[in-house]
Amino acid sequence: MIYLDHAAATPVSKKVFEAMEPYFSHDFFNPSAAYLPAKKVSTDYENAKAVIAHAIGAKAHDLVITAGATEANNLAFGLLEDDVTCLYLITEHDSVRKVAEKHGGEAVKVDKNGRVDLADLKSKITDKTKLISVALVNNELGTIQPLSEISAIVRDVRFDRLSRGIKTPLYLHSDASQAMNLLNVNVARLGVDLLTLNAAKIYGPKGVGALYVSHEVKLKPLNYGGGQEQGLRSGTENVPGVVGFAKAVEETSAHLNGNRKKYTKWRKILLDELEEYELINKKHTLDNFVVLCYDGVDAERLVFLLEEKGVYVSTGAACAASKGVKSHVLKAIGLSDSEIAGSLRLTLGETNTEEQIHEAAKIINEAAKIERGRHD
Ligand code: PLP
Repeated sequence: MIYLDHAAATPVSKKVFEAMEPYFSHDFFNPSAAYLPAKKVSTDYENAKAVIAHAIGAKAHDLVITAGATEANNLAFGLLEDDVTCLYLITEHDSVRKVAEKHGGEAVKVDKNGRVDLADLKSKITDKTKLISVALVNNELGTIQPLSEISAIVRDVRFDRLSRGIKTPLYLHSDASQAMNLLNVNVARLGVDLLTLNAAKIYGPKGVGALYVSHEVKLKPLNYGGGQEQGLRSGTENVPGVVGFAKAVEETSAHLNGNRKKYTKWRKILLDELEEYELINKKHTLDNFVVLCYDGVDAERLVFLLEEKGVYVSTGAACAASKGVKSHVLKAIGLSDSEIAGSLRLTLGETNTEEQIHEAAKIINEAAKIERGRHD
């Protein structure tokens, strides 16, 4: 098998798995219990949170642990009351897009590279805008957004509101689910007030995520109960999940530069050896994303054919692909219906070797030729 769909899921690494294991069995205690072994588990949990927080330049109590990025994104929108609204990038993951739409949010345009249109963003901010949500890295294209430029705009709006006596604050949220693999993510440098993290995309466990919440932001919880996570996310703590998340963060942080170099090289190999494609994500992209268009080819059929040959790829976001929905991301960057239908996303990762990359290029070339032949 040659797996080229690491943006959809990453396997739990051996070290992560080993770190988690004791907390399923020997150290199973509820961290809130009063006896000593439980207190040790509670300490281990807080230490794990501190490791995750430290990696983004924050403190453990700034993080709300959630059951994945979808929940963290939904929780972030909990700062919106009835009389205020939000802006979101048109290419956001559905877990942002759908909740933003529910709050009457307006979509901000992107250019042909998938980068935010800053003029459009500025023009859409009104005195009722309380939240702006822009993912640091897009999950279909790998586009890296200029978050610090957006946060500079947010700062200007805050000053302007202050000078006019407008009390509504403005906050910046970013979904960094796809970013931590290869980018050094720091909340102060990015200038974000809220940040979503996802263990499942960095060789940690699925169903574990976090929302960084800066001190100024007042959130409403999504669920009520025992008051864990500063009252923002009640429920017994997922100790193995968070310990695994911390180990995954440690491992990815240690290999950022090496991995970036490796994927840049592999991306170039693919672009050199693949034939008769058009590259879609040309600029400002994370090194492990290769998005191609085979115009006139049905990429869904290509995906099935490639699966038969042992190569796993996708036509876009895994959740949209499984529902046969046309990619709103590819549409937003101006691709025609036939170009969208011919688009393939390859995302490289730790399961790959350089040999596999050469092999994958060969297999994809053959499969694309067969599919193209079907239409000629
Ligand atoms: N946000 C982005 C950018 C993603 O890529 C994903 C997962 O595909 C999510 C959010 C949702 O994450 P989860 O399914 O872990 O809740």
